Amino acid sequence: MNIILIGPPGAGKGTQARILEEERGMVQLSTGDMLREARTSGTEMGKKVADIMDSGGLVTDEIVVGLIEEKLQSAEGDGFIFDGFPRTLAQAAALDDLLRANKQELGAVVEMKVDDDALVARITARSTCANCGEVYNDITRPIPDDGKCSVCGASDFKRRADDNEESLRTRLMEYYKKTAPLIGYYYHAGLLNPVNGLGEIDEVKAEIAASLGA
Ligand code: ADP
Ligand code: ZN
Repeated sequence: MNIILIGPPGAGKGTQARILEEERGMVQLSTGDMLREARTSGTEMGKKVADIMDSGGLVTDEIVVGLIEEKLQSAEGDGFIFDGFPRTLAQAAALDDLLRANKQELGAVVEMKVDDDALVARITARSTCANCGEVYNDITRPIPDDGKCSVCGASDFKRRADDNEESLRTRLMEYYKKTAPLIGYYYHAGLLNPVNGLGEIDEVKAEIAASLGA
């Protein structure tokens, strides 16, 4: 089954996507991760999107749809988890077309609901393992005392350039203006499953499982 995780920045989409990958063999397709990879490897496209990403704006539909199209052709697994995509109605329409062309379907759209106050607190406390991308949080899920990632053992951690209050404000505004309309779109398609994103990681995981019917 293919699913979309939708919700504001900091709602926990990436964390839950990784759990779904580990426990169900699904494959996370995160446009944010793909764009960050393009920046790290210094491609033309990576250079083009850098400033937009750091300021918290959205990169063009053309770029992200192109990235997803590529991955849909090469990736294999027990269903895709779209994380951070689609973010505009145009992207949602493009995804419908791509899935149809690949004889695939969307099984569910999980909306992760979280208060704005909690988002700011979460994001400014966030760091990730530089090696495997595991997500940590200074308050709720600190880096282990031995300074080593509990998943891969690496000891380098990084914070994202756009995880500061100013970019976050822009990212939230973009979310409400351009992404929130997708909630109505998927509600009408009969696919929307709202879950409370404010609980513990395991509670949210259980709510998602219940909403997926497994
Ligand atoms: P978050 O959900 O925490 O804000 P992401 O890692 O999903 O972060 O995305 C980081 C940035 O990458 C976004 O602020 C935006 O600039 C860009 N981006 C990611 N996905 C998309 C998308 N589908 N459309 C446009 N821009 C995107
Ligand atoms: Zn790690």
